[in-house]
Amino acid sequence: MWFRRDLRIGDLPALLAAGSDNQTVVPLFVIDPGFARAGAPRRALLHGILNDLDQQIRDRFGSRLLIRHGDPAVEVPAIAAAFDASTVYVSRDYAPYGRQRDTLVAAALAEQGRSLAGVGSPYAVDPGRVLKGDGTPYKVFTPFSKIWRQAGVEPPAPDPGGDMAWAPTSALDEYCHPLFDPPEPGCRLPSVGEAAALDRWASFLDAASAADGTMRSGVSAYNDLRDQPALAGTSHLSPDLKWGTIHPRTLLADLDLSGPKDDGAMVFSSELAWRDFYADVLFTQPHTAWKNLNTRFDAMPVDTDTAARRRFDQWTAGETGFGIVDAGLRQLLATGWMHNRVRMIVASFLVKDLHLPWQWGARWFMQHLLDGDIASNNHGWQWAAGTGTDASPYFRVFNPTTQQERYDRRGEYVDRWVKTSAEPMVDHGVEREEALRRLRMLRDA
Ligand SMILES: Cc1cc2nc3c(=O)[nH]c(=O)nc-3n(C[C@H](O)[C@H](O)[C@H](O)COP(=O)(O)OP(=O)(O)OC[C@H]3O[C@@H](n4cnc5c(N)ncnc54)[C@H](O)[C@@H]3O)c2cc1C
Repeated sequence: MWFRRDLRIGDLPALLAAGSDNQTVVPLFVIDPGFARAGAPRRALLHGILNDLDQQIRDRFGSRLLIRHGDPAVEVPAIAAAFDASTVYVSRDYAPYGRQRDTLVAAALAEQGRSLAGVGSPYAVDPGRVLKGDGTPYKVFTPFSKIWRQAGVEPPAPDPGGDMAWAPTSALDEYCHPLFDPPEPGCRLPSVGEAAALDRWASFLDAASAADGTMRSGVSAYNDLRDQPALAGTSHLSPDLKWGTIHPRTLLADLDLSGPKDDGAMVFSSELAWRDFYADVLFTQPHTAWKNLNTRFDAMPVDTDTAARRRFDQWTAGETGFGIVDAGLRQLLATGWMHNRVRMIVASFLVKDLHLPWQWGARWFMQHLLDGDIASNNHGWQWAAGTGTDASPYFRVFNPTTQQERYDRRGEYVDRWVKTSAEPMVDHGVEREEALRRLRMLRDA
């Protein structure tokens, strides 16, 4: 069982397949040198999650997580050969790098007469499954989500029983490399691992009642509170979903989806559909990881000179002088997470007030987010930049001041993160006009 983005024991069909027919499970994780490119927060989080997974495998099954460092196309076949495994089981990866890597690993295994078997994926509905009547993929979320709801999500897979055979630690020790030194994350890390993810989910499901009897948090209040960054109105499960310490199947199975469209559970399930949608878009159009989905925007003038770099540095430091923008960027640096509403605001500000390439912001997010995910992040950025699917039209420019008045009326969120504020680095009205001028130039061209 080669673990990648599915770092849990429960609800994991690939693991059940690996242990079926009395096969002995060798649990493997490969630290790919490419992972060094991920920022310190995400590497530190992964370190904690791998330790937790290893501990679970030791405590429950008397085995251990076999760690290797190196090219998966070398390491996976080497371990498969050492244990004479006929099949290497994985949860399928649909992102561009993962697909390329898996093709190479499958080829290397095939040379040895072994196979790579993909069973399940990190998504409720696998990318490529939701198709229009003519067999082509959807480009817009709403019709996608209708079919997504009809696709039928499997119930959670059962826990592996005590009778599953695991390779004993004594057999694995000889091949196991030490983990890696955890980098200084530079931000507060949440509790990690499968049990922590299930706890987070349980407390989100269990809405706490306020003194006046109104529901003030949790999934039932999700639709009312999810846009207010000062409140804990969202699940904070994105790092867990990113690393697979919990699967969306587990979440969907616990939700009552019989309510109206604006019911908390329904709206929450739509967010999981957005996650699947972006994975689907990236799967069908892998070049859109870093390139405009709407290629008409390739000709949009963006600034990349030294002055632009200086503006970018001010943005990354949370020193733009716009309260909600700075609060979001400082929350990101301090916690490795940022509220969704604020992600949209800071992204719009970078593209439409500072006229910088969305890719600069997307890269910064990938370096600092604990949940950094190429599909959700880069398509979230393309949405904000107006270059992507379902894109907010380019001419709709978020006004950071009115956004703050609307979503942080009492200023609690901004006060929490911004202790010292700077002078506004730009005049929003002027930059809005400039953004629209560039759009007109693009249209005329
Ligand atoms: C510019 C930008 C960049 C983003 N980058 C990422 C990223 O790297 N990784 C990431 O997981 N999400 C990303 N998002 C989506 C969203 O902001 C986060 O998923 C959400 O804030 C995570 O908090 P939560 O777990 O409390 O979400 P909840 O509101 O509790 O939602 C539950 C889950 O649904 C999924 N989800 C929610 N909103 C979205 C969305 N708009 N798109 C895709 N999935 C969604 C997430 O998996 C989330 O954990 C980005 C959005 C924008 C606008």
